[in-house]
Amino acid sequence: MFGRPARFVARAPGRVNLIGEHTDYNDGFVLPMAIDREVTLVGAPREDRVVRVHSLDFDETLTFGLDFIPREAAGRWGNYVRGVAAVLRDAAFALTGFDAVLKGDVPMGSGLSSSAAIELATLMAFKAAGEAAGRPLDARLDGELAARLAQRAEQRYTGVQCGIMDQFIATLGVEGHALKIDCLDLTHEAVPMPAGARIVVIDTGASRALAASAYNTRRAECEAGAALFRAQTLRDVRYADFVARREGAEGPVMLRVGHVLLENQRVLDAVEALKRGDLEELGLLMSHSHQSLRDLYEVSSDALDAAVDIAEGVEGVYGARMTGAGFGGCAIALTREDAVDALREAIEAQYPQRTGLTPKVFVCRANAGASYRLLDAAAG
Ligand code: ADP
Ligand code: MG
Repeated sequence: MFGRPARFVARAPGRVNLIGEHTDYNDGFVLPMAIDREVTLVGAPREDRVVRVHSLDFDETLTFGLDFIPREAAGRWGNYVRGVAAVLRDAAFALTGFDAVLKGDVPMGSGLSSSAAIELATLMAFKAAGEAAGRPLDARLDGELAARLAQRAEQRYTGVQCGIMDQFIATLGVEGHALKIDCLDLTHEAVPMPAGARIVVIDTGASRALAASAYNTRRAECEAGAALFRAQTLRDVRYADFVARREGAEGPVMLRVGHVLLENQRVLDAVEALKRGDLEELGLLMSHSHQSLRDLYEVSSDALDAAVDIAEGVEGVYGARMTGAGFGGCAIALTREDAVDALREAIEAQYPQRTGLTPKVFVCRANAGASYRLLDAAAG
C-alpha cells in the first residue's frame, strides 16, 4: 500500500456488555468483556507530521497533518482517527506521524463498540509509531488515561456523549475474564468466565437509526432524575427514596431512574453469581436487565425483543439481553456449551420469519485489551 515494510501492528477489541446497561454515564456499575473481534492497524512511522490511514473496509485513504485536524462530515470513519490524534496532541503527547492500513471485524454500528476499538487501535498505533521511530510516547499513556482520552475523542469528534465503559474495556480487558467496573472511580476487578459458559452474539441486522439522539436524551433524563433527588448523579440516589417518591410521579424520568438503580444492583449480583459459577442466576439477571431496558428505559426494539425471546426459549440458554446502547444492533445469550448449535438453529429458523431481517450468530471469547507490537524491520 505504501511501498515500504510495516514496522508495527496495533489492535484493540470490541466488547459485549454482560450486564449494566446505560449505567456507566450514571457513575454506576458495568460488567463488560472484550471479545475476539478487533480493529487492527498495520503500519510504519513517518519522519514528517503526517498521518495516512487506508481503510480496507471502506477502500478509502485518510490523510491529515498533526498540526491542523479538522472534523469530517458526521458519520465518517476518519473522525475516530482524527479525534484520537487531536486529543493526544492537545494533551501534550509528542506524536509521530505514520502510514497504516486499517481493518476490522467488529461489526460496525451493531452495539459491539467498533468505535472504541478503532479509537484504541489508533491510540496504540501512535504509541507503536513513536517507539518504532525512537521517539516513544510518555509511558503514562496507558490504562485509564488512554481510555479517558479515547472517550474524549469520540465525544469531541462525533458528538456522542458516550460514557467510559467501551473505551475502558477495550483498553483493560483481560483474556478469559469479564471486567467489573465501578464507573464512579474506575476501580475494576477481572472476574473469570466459567469454563462451561458460552456467550453467543445475535446481530439483529437492524440498524440503530435514532440511537445517537435518543442516547443523548436518556442522559439528559438521568440528569433530571438526579436533580429531582437533589443528587449529583443517580449513584447517590437511595432505592428507598426512589420508592417513596415514585408513586404519582408519572413520566419517563422516574422510569429511567428505576432502571438505573435496579440495574446497578443486578451488576453486583451478577458478579457474585459469576464467582460462584452460578450461570442460572447470571442468566436470570440478564433477562431481567433486558426487560428493564425494554419497559423502563425504553431503548429496546422489536428486533432485539424477538432475538431475546427466541433465545430464551432454547433449552440450555440461561438468559439473554440486548447489549450496547440499544434500538437495534446485537443481543447476547448466555448458554451452556452444548446448547450453542440449538440456539443458532432456533434463531436462523424463527428470527427472519418474525422480523423480516437476516441475523448473524457467533460465539465470542473473552479477549485481552488493546496492545501493539513492533515488527522486525527486516521481516516487514
Ligand atoms: P458501534 O461502536 O456500536 O460499532 P458506532 O456508531 O459507535 O457503533 O461506531 C461505528 C463507526 O466506527 C463506524 O461507522 C465507522 O465510522 C467506525 N469504524 C468501526 N470499525 C471500523 C473499521 N474497521 N474501519 C473504519 N471505520 C470503522
Ligand atoms: Mg460506539
